[in-house]
Amino acid sequence: MNKLLFTIPMVFFLSLASGQAQTKKASSTTTPKSVSVAQGEVARWAGNCLRCSFEKRAWSAVNGTCYYPVDMDMKPGHYTISRRTTGGKLETATINVAEKACVQEDITNFPKKEYVNVSPQNQARAAKEAAVVNPLIRYQSSLRPAVFDLPVGKPANSLPKGEGNFGACRTINGQPRDRHTGQDYPVGVGTPVLSVGNGRVLLAANQFYSGNAVYIDHGNGLISEYFHLKSYSVKPNQTVTKGQKIGFAGETGRVTGPHLHFGVRWHGACINPGFLLIDPADMQEVK
Ligand SMILES: [Zn+2]
Repeated sequence: MNKLLFTIPMVFFLSLASGQAQTKKASSTTTPKSVSVAQGEVARWAGNCLRCSFEKRAWSAVNGTCYYPVDMDMKPGHYTISRRTTGGKLETATINVAEKACVQEDITNFPKKEYVNVSPQNQARAAKEAAVVNPLIRYQSSLRPAVFDLPVGKPANSLPKGEGNFGACRTINGQPRDRHTGQDYPVGVGTPVLSVGNGRVLLAANQFYSGNAVYIDHGNGLISEYFHLKSYSVKPNQTVTKGQKIGFAGETGRVTGPHLHFGVRWHGACINPGFLLIDPADMQEVK
């Protein structure tokens, strides 16, 4: 990204690093601003924003609004956020993060036996795949500019209601598994899967857990993920547009049946993708 924007977050970083637990007093006359969200949700600060920071992380505003995605595993508590306005003003606020209890999913008689007791070979394969994916989806201080706008498009036409299983805590035959990082939509095999926004394909690959998987970078640290596809028709580094077909829904990888898994990472935070499909005016706002 350009140097001009990159110099500003360093100022944020230095000023916040010294006292991240305290709310900084901007001036004795301003009333303290705050916003309350739950784990996996997104808060916003609208109007004339240029740069945004959340504790030690910082990024550009999207069309004048600061967005603060909260990872589903972020420790509940009070954190400092701030924004730099286009007029050069620095304002701070408190973001109150509440716990969101995970839905418990216990799956017995899992149909694909290789996922019940995972062999050492498959464990090694999955670890290798995670080592490729993790650097792509974590927070980065220097970012390509946003090429998306909110709300994003739907990952499939006539998208059915999601399963409500974002962040679910899962067990398979009683053995605990990682939390569910996306939302599952009950669409049939062969349903066209669409990029939710303009972007660039980061990765399109067959993976042990995610099956045929596509990861798209929409700029500003927003990455969308589409898993368990029957097939995909895009390649890494390919530019895609909002609504473009990237593949077909299927049942590859660790699934009990056909569906589309749609996930989102934003500035490294794993968030409920449903928050990108709603009118951003309906997000919790800093006041
Ligand atoms: Zn899923």
